Amino acid sequence: HLDRVLGKHPPSASVVKLPTPPTLRGAKRHDVTICGAGFAGSVLARQFAEVSGKRVLLVDRRPHVAGNAFDCLDDAGVLIHRYGPHIFHTNSDDVFAWLGRFTEWRPYEHRVLARVGGKSVPMPINRTTLNALYGLDMQSDAEAEAFLARKAEPVADIRTSRDVVVNAIGTELYETFFQGYTRKQWGLDPSQLDKSVTARVPTRTNTDDRYFTDKHQAMPREGYTRMFERMLDHPGIELALGTDFHDLKPAERGALTVYTGPIDAYFGHRFGTLPYRSLQFRHETLDRAQFQPVAVVNFPAEDVPHTRITEYKHLTGQVHARTSISYEYPSAEGDPYYPIPRPENQALFRRYDALAAAEPNVIFAGRLGSYRYYNMDQVVGQALAIHRRLTARQPAADAM
Ligand code: FAD
Ligand code: UDP
Repeated sequence: HLDRVLGKHPPSASVVKLPTPPTLRGAKRHDVTICGAGFAGSVLARQFAEVSGKRVLLVDRRPHVAGNAFDCLDDAGVLIHRYGPHIFHTNSDDVFAWLGRFTEWRPYEHRVLARVGGKSVPMPINRTTLNALYGLDMQSDAEAEAFLARKAEPVADIRTSRDVVVNAIGTELYETFFQGYTRKQWGLDPSQLDKSVTARVPTRTNTDDRYFTDKHQAMPREGYTRMFERMLDHPGIELALGTDFHDLKPAERGALTVYTGPIDAYFGHRFGTLPYRSLQFRHETLDRAQFQPVAVVNFPAEDVPHTRITEYKHLTGQVHARTSISYEYPSAEGDPYYPIPRPENQALFRRYDALAAAEPNVIFAGRLGSYRYYNMDQVVGQALAIHRRLTARQPAADAM
């Protein structure tokens, strides 16, 4: 059936603009229904409309596109990221080129400082960090390597986010940089989290102070929202914002559905709620041109309630007499932002995933649909691969 849905037909020349939610009811005018206008849903909407010639209905319950990557001008006219700092980085030429059809890029390499013991030091930990913290003057990688080797406390079986850090740099540095931050961010001790979480942040013996080392590091020149608007500007795509997918009747859905919301919500939480971590943001505009020397400053100390402060002008390159910042306060309540990687959550996800595999003509994708701590580029890569896989099945179906 999926293959029939994907059978190519030219995009309709006169697609009626789908109006506001109430009039969605009634005649079905689309082939593919997509829940969620973030990266996963929007990339698939474009691919289905443009490559497969399908009519796509894309719904999002929020009043805007771009999902958590949404950016907008605040009251002062400063471009901010409503849901926290989004820095684009990827090693994939394909992903970078595909998105590049919808935006120009502004080269940007992300740098982060951590506030520890009254000092601001580079994070990820590098030789500069170690020299500043311990009053040393190490000049070579070899010296820093030897220093860390003396600090490291080997762990035989590395499973948790504590193991992976203590094994590499020892308890002291772990406690200074990771323990408090992680407890605040996740509401869990690092020993209760999968190693993949803190393994996202490397330790270096050189003086490279970039947060990422990917081949491509850049920001969409006019912002993420503008990039999404261009991506979704196709006659085969109808967008219904402020529309909850769960309010659509089954008869109003196309023959194929793509669902990028929380997978447990799709199935009515029937096995229980999958935990997601949320954040509260405090956005502020200041009457000065600059607040901090880099885009993000991390606060690992457990007695400081926020985890980090972002100053957006560093990310966007905007020139403005004022500046806007946001504080992040992790929380259990609120929009689902982060799947929480730990074995019991993975086990619960697998039960939902088994239901998903058996659900006819529904594809689950994205960070929430896959319950994976994906970066933006990974979500784009996943969406492109899903579309490619479905399209590749096409010739076989045609031959039947
Ligand atoms: P989302 O962006 O979450 O989109 C899902 C959409 O589905 C939402 O708009 C939601 O409203 C909608 N939806 C859900 N349920 C329904 C429903 N029932 N009906 C209608 N609509 C529904 N990645 C990076 O690469 N670099 C970064 O620097 C970075 N920083 C981040 C910082 C924060 C604070 C967070 C939370 C994430 C960050 N990410 C970053 C990750 C990035 O946000 C995700 O990889 C990406 O946005 C996921 O896209 P998505 O489409 O899967 O999900
Ligand atoms: N982390 C930490 N201290 C830091 C930075 C990161 O302990 O100064 C840990 C923390 O558990 C965090 C994880 O490493 O959740 C991944 O960090 P990253 O910056 O990738 O988080 P994100 O930007 O996805 O929120």
